[in-house]
This record gives sequence, structure tokens and C-alpha cells, in this order.
Amino acid sequence: MKKKILLIIALIMIISTILRTMIVGYSFLNFSNATIENEANLLKELLQEVIDKDRFIKIIQKSQHIKEIEFINKKSSKTTILSDYNHKTFTTLLPFSDNQTLKIVFEADNYFKKLQNTYLQLIFIAIVSLIIIILIVNYFLTPYLEILEKIKTSTNNILNGNFNQHIDTKLKGEAKEFVDSFNIFLQKLKESFGVIEEKYTSLIEKERSDDPLNDAKETIEQLANIFKFKNMIEEDNTTDEIFNRLVDVLLNFKINNFSLIGIDNSENTTFEIYKQGDICCDILDNFKACRAYRLKKTINSQEFPKVCPMHYCDNEYICIPFSASGNFTGILKININSEAEKKHINKNLPYIKAYLNEVSAIIEAKYTLELLHNQSIKDPLTNLFNRRHLENILPMLIAAAQRRNEKLAFLMIDMDYFKTVNDTYGHKAGDTVLKTLANILINNVRKSDIVIRYGGEEFLIILQNIKSYEDAINIAEKIRTSIENTKIQLDNTVIQKTISIGISLFPEHCKQGWECIKYADIALYKAKENGRNQVVLFHEDFKKDYEEY
Ligand code: GH3
Ligand code: MG
Ligand code: MG
Repeated sequence: MKKKILLIIALIMIISTILRTMIVGYSFLNFSNATIENEANLLKELLQEVIDKDRFIKIIQKSQHIKEIEFINKKSSKTTILSDYNHKTFTTLLPFSDNQTLKIVFEADNYFKKLQNTYLQLIFIAIVSLIIIILIVNYFLTPYLEILEKIKTSTNNILNGNFNQHIDTKLKGEAKEFVDSFNIFLQKLKESFGVIEEKYTSLIEKERSDDPLNDAKETIEQLANIFKFKNMIEEDNTTDEIFNRLVDVLLNFKINNFSLIGIDNSENTTFEIYKQGDICCDILDNFKACRAYRLKKTINSQEFPKVCPMHYCDNEYICIPFSASGNFTGILKININSEAEKKHINKNLPYIKAYLNEVSAIIEAKYTLELLHNQSIKDPLTNLFNRRHLENILPMLIAAAQRRNEKLAFLMIDMDYFKTVNDTYGHKAGDTVLKTLANILINNVRKSDIVIRYGGEEFLIILQNIKSYEDAINIAEKIRTSIENTKIQLDNTVIQKTISIGISLFPEHCKQGWECIKYADIALYKAKENGRNQVVLFHEDFKKDYEEY
């Protein structure tokens, strides 16, 4: 900048000096031409007057500044003056008579010397004034240019995250006022960014990047999204809804290989919430070996390779536990399969952690509520739903089946001669038999079917959306034979038991839930009556046999 300004000044000075020198030279020449012409004309007039022209010429030639004077036999119409720098002469050619021209060569050594001196003086003055101007400009310009330079450096430093900037100047007046306001601006910037940075770093674990301003913008945007997310999940009803939102967030972050595992700490059971891609881990079978679960902290193979023996592939991975303090622990495992993915995941990891952080407390509260609710609708011995749950869902089940035009089957199940188990092997053995029966029931029906411990050793299964009534009988038969063939291990012995099953069908036999249960029970009694260990389908004729219902 400064160099440019000085160069321009020097250029202007050089051009103006050249122009001035040319003007001076030209004026000098005009002036001398006029003088020479006058003198030549005077000599010409004198020559015209004298008779002995040759003698006059000889006398004149003796004059020091006339080098040559002669007549040339040549016609000329006007006076010509020629300057010869090499010989330092002026030659005038004057028309003298019709066929004669008077040629006078004037010695002009002195004149040319003076011209040369004048040129030298002009150049000297130009150089001196150029130096003076450059010095003056430099002196006045430098502090202003310095301010610009300092502003440039400060701005660059701010962009690189160093907000500790202050500039100073020796200048006074407007320049000083400008520098002072700029310093106030820097100070304000530093204070406000400091507060912003302090606030968001307390919310998101982030390392300072090379571009903190952009980084702050991005972080604040993410924090706003996290805030919205938090408000949203607070209003969600179930943990499943929250998990779905969390999965959406992870997919939005373009995480390609990850799994979300839930661990029920009160029951010591695990369940898969979501899985995408291969995560190379057997956590579902052995969650207690999970390092992230055990240590309740993020496990990152980038910090220490082969950190967790549970991971069985060669790639890198990150496992983040969340909600780790109560009934529920979540584990997010992210697999990293390429360098690009690694960069992307590491960049977004603080945000993902912040989301998990927000999810933690809310999931924990909702999970505990769900757990309490489940406990209130489940039978602790068999972990099957209890009668209370049946009461809650029965009207809905019937309404839904009606709406969708679907068939339901009610299977009432009772163990044959169960009392003898208690009587022979004790109550504990009886409980074992009940648990075994419950497991067989659960394993022989679909997830959408409902298995309820209806009474002591009575169970109710509601089969949903069955295609034909034969299906219901087949399932009942499958359950019956499965029990019949099961060897139940008790403390000192192995026993085998049988069951009887009564079936009623909706809407064929009954229109109301409790009516269906009643008819299934009547069919069950028929099965008992007929000799037990059998499946009996309800029939209208049974009604009159069991009028006590
Ligand atoms: P059957 O049904 O074939 O007519 O004969 P049963 O011996 O099974 O007769 P019933 O169904 O009336 O027997 C019910 C018995 O089940 C009474 C009770 O001692 C026993 N029982 C009920 N609840 C439990 C329980 O939670 N644990 C144990 N061990 N026994 C129970
Ligand atoms: Mg029984
Ligand atoms: Mg019974």
C-alpha cells in the first residue's frame, strides 16, 4: 500500500520534471532563435549598406562569436535558423539577393552550456523535491497505514479465535477517535463472545476449533435444536416414542452403523431398541461385559485401541452410555468404518452426547413409570399379565376386532390335578410347575397374542386376528401336547403334567369380552368333565349344562 502510494508520487514527479524540462528547453530555444535572427538581420542590413563587402566580412569574422560568414549562390525565400548541438553552433540562412543567400554560423558554446546547466538544475530540483515529498508523505502516511495494518492483524486474530486484541496509535484527532472506538468494539466483542463461549461449552463438551466464530454459530444452532428436542420428548407418552425420536436424530446426523441397546437394571435384561449395520458386539447376550455399561462412561477405541474385548471387528467404535443411574441404562454403539466417517462422527460426537444427555433424565423417569405400570399389570411369579391388565384391555380388544372385522379366540387353560403337585412336592414345586407352564404358553403364541395368569393355576390366552377357527384349535392342541411332553425338573424328581383347554370364539360364540371368557371357562369344564388333558371348543348346547354360570 505504502509502496504503491510512494511509487505513484515518484512517477508523477518524474513525468512533471520531464515535461517542465521540455518546456524550459523549448522556451530557451525560441528565445535564442529570436536573438540570433535579430543579430543576423542586423549584419545583413549592414552588409547591404557597405560597398566592400569582402572586407566587411573579414572584419566581422574576427568577432569571436561569429564562426563563419559567407555568401552562398543559392536562392532562398525565408530566414532559416539551424541549431547544431554537436558543434555547439547556430547557423542562419538569410535571403540576401535574388540568387544569393547569406550564411552566418554563430558560435553558441556558451549558450549550450547554459542550457545544459539549466537542465541539470531542473533535474536536481526535481530529485530534491521528490525526496522531500516522499519523506513528508512517508512521515504522515505511515501512522495511518500502521492503523490499517493493525486492524488487519486484529481481525485475523479474532477469526482465529484470539479475542484479546487492542490496537494503539501515536496519532491524535480523528485517527485517535477511530482507534479508540475500534478498541471499544474489540472489547465488547471479546466480552460477549467470552460469555457465549463459556455458556455453550458448559452445555456441550467441545474442543476449541480453528474457526471459533463459525463454531459458535453451529453450536448455538445445535443447542436450539436440542432444546426443541427436549421439549418434544418431555411431552412424549412412552419411552418407545422417545427412542424413535432419538433414532431419527442419529439418522439425521448421518450415522450409518449404530445400535441402541436398552438394559433393564432391575430385571437384568437387555433389549434392542434400534440397529443399523453390523455393530460387531454381543452386548445383548452379555451386557455386564460391556465396558461402557460397567464404567458408565464413553468408551472410544480411538483413544485406546482394543479397549473393549466385546468388540470383535477390526474397525474403530464409540460406545456411549446414557441414563446410567437408575432402572434403565441405554448404550449407543457407533461403528466407524472409514476415515471420512471418523471425521464426520468426531465432529458431531459432542452434539450426539448432548442429545443423549437430554434424553437421559427424561427416559429414566418415563422408564421407571412404565416399569411401575408393568409391575402393576404383571404377575410376579410368571411375569405374565394379570387380571387387572385383562380388565383394562378387554373392551379395547373387542372394539378393535369388531372395527377390523377380525376373529379372536379365548383359550382358558387349567392344569389337571395341580393340587397333587402341591400336596406331594410342596408349594415351591407347584410354583416351578406354574412358571414352566407360563413359559410354554408364551413361546407357543405370537407376540401380539395376550397371555394372562387368570387365577391360581388358570391361564387365559387371547389369540388375535386368527384366520380360521381351526387355527385356534391347532394352537391349543400344540400347547396341550407341548405341556404333556415336557419333563418338569423339580428338586429331587422329574414330573410330567397335563392341561385342559376350553375355547370360545369371537364373534361366533360371543359378542362381549366377559361373555367370551365365560364360554371358554364352560368349555374348560367340559374338558375336565370329559377326562382332562384335552381341548374342547365351546358349543351352545353346553350352556344349559352349566346354568350356574
Ligand atoms: P383339576 O383342575 O384337574 O380339577 O384339579 P386341580 O387339583 O388342579 O384343582 P384346582 O384347579 O381346583 O386346583 C387349584 C389349586 O392350585 C389350589 C391351589 O393349591 C393351587 N394353587 C393356586 N395358585 C397357586 C400358586 O400360586 N402356587 C401354587 N403352588 N399353587 C397354587
Ligand atoms: Mg386345576
Ligand atoms: Mg383350577
